[in-house]
Amino acid sequence: MKYINNIFTIENCRLDKVTKKFETPIFCYSKKKIEENINNFKNSFKAISPIICFSTKSNSNLELLKYIKKNGLGADVVSKGELMLALKAGISPKKIVFSGVGKTRSELIFAIDKKILLINCESKSEVLEIENIAKSKNKRVDIGIRLNPNTDAKTLKQISTGKKENKFGVNEKTFIEVSNHIKYSKHLNLKCLSVHIGSQILDHKPYKKMLNVLDKLIGKTSFSFEYIDLGGGMGIDYNKNNKKFDYKKYCQIIKKFLTKHKSKIIFEPGRSIIGDTAVLISRIIYIKENSKKDFIIIDAAMNDFMRPALYGAQHKIIPLVKKYKKTNKIYDFVGPICESTDKFLTTKKFQKLYEKEYVIICDVGAYGSSLSSNYNVRPKLAEILIKGSKINLIKKRQKLKDLI
Ligand SMILES: *Cc1c(COP(=O)(O)O)cnc(C)c1O
Repeated sequence: MKYINNIFTIENCRLDKVTKKFETPIFCYSKKKIEENINNFKNSFKAISPIICFSTKSNSNLELLKYIKKNGLGADVVSKGELMLALKAGISPKKIVFSGVGKTRSELIFAIDKKILLINCESKSEVLEIENIAKSKNKRVDIGIRLNPNTDAKTLKQISTGKKENKFGVNEKTFIEVSNHIKYSKHLNLKCLSVHIGSQILDHKPYKKMLNVLDKLIGKTSFSFEYIDLGGGMGIDYNKNNKKFDYKKYCQIIKKFLTKHKSKIIFEPGRSIIGDTAVLISRIIYIKENSKKDFIIIDAAMNDFMRPALYGAQHKIIPLVKKYKKTNKIYDFVGPICESTDKFLTTKKFQKLYEKEYVIICDVGAYGSSLSSNYNVRPKLAEILIKGSKINLIKKRQKLKDLI
């Protein structure tokens, strides 16, 4: 993705071609970039040959899931809907893991009937519910227990999941108690110890701490786990300041861990696979001049792309057509929705913008379309996948008549 002759281009497709053909806002993905990210991820962990389950909640576009499956990945799901979607994409149940603190009985029954690889339990009550279902079906079910390792992931507090005040997983004491219960259960196999400490993690040290916690805990239980599921969370370079996650170091730490514990590693990456593979093209509706700053009112809003409003996340915004006349004004990029948090970014020294021009919000592949909503009765957006100079429509824009 780069400017060619001052026009932003994905693979061999100039994005002005997209705006001529489609309504904005629109999500545009690069097929090549997805493949590249998957290959990079696989190569980084070659030494430990893990099972890689793509986190479906980061992006649940069916066509993208099919492509991710084609590249050899399984799925990490957090609801019956995501599980159904992963199966529809052709992903083998033997490559699907199911996480989440509130799986309902009907969701658990569905997962058990589909014989997925693992249900990662997050409470004692959930373990007992699964045992009860398994008993009624006279089956043995493979499960994991998610540990809350009380490790600070050093990320945004809204996307931190591994501290003791977070709702996820069980503490060490419960872990030991529940694993002892499972040891004597006729209907459960404890196959996995799972963790997931948060998202957009750029430092490998929290992972190192997490593995130390796992090491100590395994020492205290008499279990040898067939699988250790380390979750996802590897961050990407949103700010373009070259602060990158050190995969090499992380792999070394895991390798060392595996010299003591003979388990198969599972990863559940989302953002690191899909985050930087897409942009959101948006048109400037109006520019409202103000004494201190100008409001650039674009046709994309927080319902289309929620990360800035939900987490205070910052995503770069760049022009579709680059010009060289800069402005000293402060620009506030905002959407049309009736909420003050419907704001994407404040910039200084942006190029001078005009109404009806297009801008691009960067790195929207993860938690973009999957987090979108119909707030303000706005239809969900179209999504396209670019391959070379070809444009494939992989999701149609919702029609207002579907909503009304
Ligand atoms: C959200 C989530 C992931 C994916 O996290 P990323 O930061 O997108 O890699 C993995 N596992 C679980 C359990 C999750 O909730």
